[in-house]
Amino acid sequence: MNWITNFVRPKIKALADMAGKKDVPDNLWQKCPGCSAMLHHQELQKHLHVCHHCGHHLRMDVMDRLAMLFDGGAYQLAELPKPAYDPLKFKDRKKYVDRLKDAQSTTGRKDAVAVAQGKIGGRTAVIAALDFSFMGGSMGAAVGDGLVAGSRLAVTLGAPFIVIPASGGARMQEGMLSLMQMPRSVIAVEQVKEARLPYIVILTDPTTGGVSASFAMLGDIQIAEPGAQIGFAGRRVIQETIRASLPDGFQTAEYLRDHGMVDLVVPRGELAAKLASLIGLLMDGGAAKPVSRRGKTNGSTALPVKTPREDEAGA
Ligand SMILES: [Zn+2]
Repeated sequence: MNWITNFVRPKIKALADMAGKKDVPDNLWQKCPGCSAMLHHQELQKHLHVCHHCGHHLRMDVMDRLAMLFDGGAYQLAELPKPAYDPLKFKDRKKYVDRLKDAQSTTGRKDAVAVAQGKIGGRTAVIAALDFSFMGGSMGAAVGDGLVAGSRLAVTLGAPFIVIPASGGARMQEGMLSLMQMPRSVIAVEQVKEARLPYIVILTDPTTGGVSASFAMLGDIQIAEPGAQIGFAGRRVIQETIRASLPDGFQTAEYLRDHGMVDLVVPRGELAAKLASLIGLLMDGGAAKPVSRRGKTNGSTALPVKTPREDEAGA
């Protein structure tokens, strides 16, 4: 019976497999962490990885993010210096070089940062985005290199520098070298500020540890995605240290905005337009025509809104 063996049986088998979650690719369906709804990957793609039931912002691929923010989805990736692999010959349960190789093969990226240039609202801009899927977006020397390269590119182009952190913090496998990236990245973004160019940070889920304690909180304008977890140490660690319970929503984007640490919480769908209007205001005082300023100070250039430059000059 061809019809039964060739058609009915495979169908039933497929249904049974789905119920037992066998042979179903992990990335086809994703459970919303906010409302537990099952979301199909095409649906997620269509809604910029925001749950259309509850509005929860899921983590987003770096390339999708760049395509979302640059005009027409067009951008050019910058060539980054080759990472200095495993300077400490570190090994825990697994060798650090092997961890790196695994991350490189799954993400197709050399390390956890991508730097790109393109147009935002018709003006040239440089974005450095961290990739959480690459070893938790952790900051090692290669991420420091990326931030230095990105800020230099922004200064060369006379363009605003936008950084999108998504990171668990410093990369432990690089020990002291990863901690050195904190002052290094601060100096990198300081160069953008010294050239009187806007430095904008878009905090995404999660931004914690050494990343939140360095370049990620120094933006002239601090934007965050709704619900993003932003903080230094985790909730449990803080609670155990201070022996007090913490308020609801602690370390979320909204909590930080309400307490003056974040300027704006912007839903993902509105980010590109918001970024374009902010860059317009900061670069040209709202004028429509794009002007390249190249660090000139003629009285109408962008002014750092918040961060007192002198305080960090020696960092
Ligand atoms: Zn949801």
